[in-house]
Amino acid sequence: MYLKPLNRLRKTLGFRLTAWYSGLFILSTLALFSTAYLLLSSSLQRRDRAALRLKLKEYAAEYQRGGLEATQRKSAFENSQAGKALYFVRVAGPDNSTLFFTLPKQWTNFDIAQLEKRSVSAPRQWLQVPITAADEDDDDDDVLEIDSVRLPDQRLLQVGASTEGREDLLERFGNTCAGIMIPVVVLGLAGGALLALRALRPLRGLTTSLQAIVATGNLAARVPVTDTGDELDELSLLFNGLLDKIGLLITGMQNSLDNVAHDLRTPLTRVRGLAEMALQSEENRDLLRDALVTCVEESDQILAMVNTLMDISEAETGAMHLEVATVSVLGLIEQVVELYRYVAEDKGITISASAPPELSIPADRNRMLQVLANLLDNALKYTPGGGRVEVAVSSTPHQVVITVTDTGIGIPPEDVAKIWQRLYRGDKSRSQRGLGLGLSLVKAIVQAHRGQVEVFSESGCGARFVLHLPVQTPA
Ligand code: ADP
Repeated sequence: MYLKPLNRLRKTLGFRLTAWYSGLFILSTLALFSTAYLLLSSSLQRRDRAALRLKLKEYAAEYQRGGLEATQRKSAFENSQAGKALYFVRVAGPDNSTLFFTLPKQWTNFDIAQLEKRSVSAPRQWLQVPITAADEDDDDDDVLEIDSVRLPDQRLLQVGASTEGREDLLERFGNTCAGIMIPVVVLGLAGGALLALRALRPLRGLTTSLQAIVATGNLAARVPVTDTGDELDELSLLFNGLLDKIGLLITGMQNSLDNVAHDLRTPLTRVRGLAEMALQSEENRDLLRDALVTCVEESDQILAMVNTLMDISEAETGAMHLEVATVSVLGLIEQVVELYRYVAEDKGITISASAPPELSIPADRNRMLQVLANLLDNALKYTPGGGRVEVAVSSTPHQVVITVTDTGIGIPPEDVAKIWQRLYRGDKSRSQRGLGLGLSLVKAIVQAHRGQVEVFSESGCGARFVLHLPVQTPA
């Protein structure tokens, strides 16, 4: 069902490519034949006209030598010779009235009478006499092509020949071309379909792989890539990249789910164990009370974990509602530091915080407090007694930069990229309380404010978390 559009696209592309390839082949063959026909026709015409012109000169010379009668005799003699080329010869007076003409008997259907009405103005004007109206059905293309010359006594000498031979040759050539065109069309269609089939092979591979994935749910299948580097190959590569990404996301989701299940199981098992113990010792009220208190504490922890997970997911998907207002950065920092002052004193850690009083950012105050509280909580948690924690603020025209630096245990290089993942906890941190969700929430909230967070740290050399927050209202 999902593959219907892809199959339709393949069919449409198949038809279009076939039409293109076949059309191109057939059209180029047609263009080739047409050019050959035109070239042949013009070269035959040039040959015939050159012969006619030569004949005209011959007759003009004969007229000069022996006048009208000699011309008449020559024409009658030449046309009676078997196997020789036939010519129409006409001599007309200065007023274009026919003085004599010879027309071979094969050409009596030409409308010679009209010549008296057609004056020859230019010296090199070719006249074409069609066949008489009564004979038009016989052969429409033949004409009598005539060359004329004005004689010294102002009479007109005309010599002509039928284009019949030329037309016959051209007709035969045309018929041969038409005969060749039939297999050319069939060949063109078959070749076009074959080429289209070849060109669409990657798309077929794509559809087949998709079909396999949809049918089996196996994301390990990949579309074959032909290494031709064409657009369809690019599409296949892109599709494979997409499958890689989906695979990674699904693995990530499965891991998260496994971690959540694992992290929920421990407190839930504890709650259940306590409840069971309490049931068995119904008599002892103090024991019952203690068990209930622990149950409430463990349930709170489970609830906190589920709530934080939901907050992260809301912030990441953009569903988190932010009460954005102009918030004083100094005010935010003072409030958080005040919150953790006793914890720091308890551990013997010095906290210092400073910020320019005029700086403010557009932000959800409570969410920002949550971000800073998480960073400060971590800094105090992972810094041994006698250490220092510093909160500093600087600014550029576009952003406010808040830095939380500590002199604690630091983060090993292999952990730096992982600490932002849900439920990830560093090996050295397991002795401390925590859910492994604090930094995921920090990152999600900061990004929901169109900001960025980064960490600089080395094992044993403390850690520095840097927040970049835009001074423009998040869109
Ligand atoms: P939690 O602190 O509950 O384990 P977090 O998501 O806040 O979870 O932090 C993830 C991990 O990042 C911690 O387990 C710890 O290994 C490391 N980490 C965070 N902040 C610091 C810090 N300031 N110094 C050293 N390690 C830290």
